[in-house]
Amino acid sequence: MSIRPITFYDDGTVDVLHDDPGYGCTGRIPVSETTLSADSSVLEIHCPGGCGSVSWHPVNGAADPQPVQQLFVRRLAQRRHVSFREAREIHRRLLEERGLLDRWALADLQDADPAESTKEGL
Ligand SMILES: [Zn+2]
Repeated sequence: MSIRPITFYDDGTVDVLHDDPGYGCTGRIPVSETTLSADSSVLEIHCPGGCGSVSWHPVNGAADPQPVQQLFVRRLAQRRHVSFREAREIHRRLLEERGLLDRWALADLQDADPAESTKEGL
């Protein structure tokens, strides 16, 4: 139960859903409004629904690995000024260093490189 990413858009935004019981807020936010911890291991999302809730996602994406890891990579690409492909590799190494490589969910991700459209959102 958390505020989690659902759908990514090429303009650097993402639909999120706050799925805690009694909430169900939704909204579309810029990926740049999410916050990566200094060591890139935790991602913070503020609920866009005005309820004041915040979610902190671990680097492995916990129960929702594919979309959460994709959000990590998109945010990382913005912060490091690298392509999606390069950020994906950085994220993979983060998991590897933590012994979490078996949780990596982006191996098969066939996605257009969104870096060009997200660099403006810094
Ligand atoms: Zn909410």
